[in-house]
Amino acid sequence: MAERVDAVVVGAGVGGLAVAIRLAAAGHRVVVLERRDEVGGKVASTAWNGYRFDLGPSLLTLPLVFDELFRVAGTSLADELALVRLDPQFRYRWPDGAELTVPDDRGAAVDAFGMFSPGAGEAWRRWDERGRRIWDVSERTFLAGPMAGPWPLIRRMRSPLDLAAIDPLRTLHGRAVRCFGDPHLVQWAGRYATYSGSSPFRAPATLACISHIESRFGCWYPIGGLDALRDALSRVAVGVGVDLRPGCEVARIVASEDAVSGIELVDGARLDAAVVVADVDAEHLYGDLLDDGTERRRLRHVTRSTSGFVVAAAVRGLTPGLRHHNVWFSSDDRAEFEALAAGNMADDPTVYGCISAVTDPSQAPEGCENWFLLVNTPAGVELDPDAQRSRVVDVLASRGVELLGRIKWSTTITPADMAARYRAPGGSIYGSSSDGRRAAFVRPNNRARRRGLYLVGGSSHPGGGLPLVTIGARIVADLVEQDGVIA
Ligand SMILES: Cc1cc2nc3c(=O)[nH]c(=O)nc-3n(C[C@H](O)[C@H](O)[C@H](O)COP(=O)(O)OP(=O)(O)OC[C@H]3O[C@@H](n4cnc5c(N)ncnc54)[C@H](O)[C@@H]3O)c2cc1C
Repeated sequence: MAERVDAVVVGAGVGGLAVAIRLAAAGHRVVVLERRDEVGGKVASTAWNGYRFDLGPSLLTLPLVFDELFRVAGTSLADELALVRLDPQFRYRWPDGAELTVPDDRGAAVDAFGMFSPGAGEAWRRWDERGRRIWDVSERTFLAGPMAGPWPLIRRMRSPLDLAAIDPLRTLHGRAVRCFGDPHLVQWAGRYATYSGSSPFRAPATLACISHIESRFGCWYPIGGLDALRDALSRVAVGVGVDLRPGCEVARIVASEDAVSGIELVDGARLDAAVVVADVDAEHLYGDLLDDGTERRRLRHVTRSTSGFVVAAAVRGLTPGLRHHNVWFSSDDRAEFEALAAGNMADDPTVYGCISAVTDPSQAPEGCENWFLLVNTPAGVELDPDAQRSRVVDVLASRGVELLGRIKWSTTITPADMAARYRAPGGSIYGSSSDGRRAAFVRPNNRARRRGLYLVGGSSHPGGGLPLVTIGARIVADLVEQDGVIA
């Protein structure tokens, strides 16, 4: 006879762990099945000779979302993690030598922007204030519950002013141009589209709230690296009774036309459950695990987020001026994003570098640096890792950062590697992108057509990134309770 539980979660990414914590804390018997030998999904790391590297997320925002989750389980973020609020938050550099270091304090940020270019301090203040309005409305509308088309969003709005406030019809680039006279700062503002694997020339201005989230709630780093967040999530999950089972790959979701009844593993073992929560990409869910032609057709309207090319490098010596988070911008943002939209690598890419040893000496031997470099790529693009690594090193050299000769060891992750590691179609980093006005409305729903089946994680509402998949987990747990599927 098949084993029976209340809920099965397929995939132990952050969204899957978070929903499991909520369901178990509500008193349900929950099993999480993860095909890899370790949990955490895209929160992954590697180590070499005293160096440690995050290979997925490197920036933690909105820690209050995790605190709220941990409190449901009777603990708190402060009890589970040692977090550092980074100051400065980021250093940005442009090919013409312009440089902007953004401090954590908002008053100091006004000064930093003001010193960067005339009038930019006031412009940043206006930009940030607009971001605050967008965030306040989004929190009580877009993030407050599931989305099945635009109506739930509109119903949750208090007045048409709310709709105007979130600026859904303009692009992020369009809003940036209206706000900043200096093209450097237009490029800076547009970069926030990449936090959801999108293009500033296509994604709505609503994403301006992301820079406000950083200025208001901070940029955070868990001591020990992002693994510490993953470990806290699995510890808290086990603490509330979640049964975590790594090394268990789900082959199919067992379902009738109307409802799900459990899952079958690749070895043929069955697990019966009234609730199945899929923390896997919706393309994998509806393409491989459950035959659903209607949902597959709907997915054609969804754009995959960008993927990325990662270099993790053990570097000898200390680099002058380096910060924890660094961005070396391209010389032409429009050309860069047009290339990505056309499925090509940008000739002159923006390079993001996180060196956590700047904050946390446990991350690299003394006098050395652990470099994590990320370049945006189209999802699905095939890359030669050695050629790309040389290119990234060359781009940095052209910006005055000489790594050649200092790299003692390195490893790379291509979009194909991400697709294989995380079952992320095309290696897409965030699941579905925010490109286009309809993006938020065509993302797969958290509640599927079949009774008892729910979706969480980057490809479903509200989208990718650590805080959003964790908010998605809250939405799913609420739906499970509302639907009363578990007897
Ligand atoms: C390089 C990179 C940089 C990033 N940077 C940031 C950042 O700085 N800040 C931020 O907030 N976010 C960042 N992100 C995004 C963030 O990591 C993701 O949005 C988030 O971790 C995704 O969580 P998820 O719940 O969607 O699950 P995923 O992490 O996608 O995990 C899904 C899990 O399901 C498992 N699985 C798949 N199929 C099956 C199956 N059939 N049976 C069993 N298990 C299965 C997979 O093995 C995987 O473990 C980054 C991601 C990457 C890759």
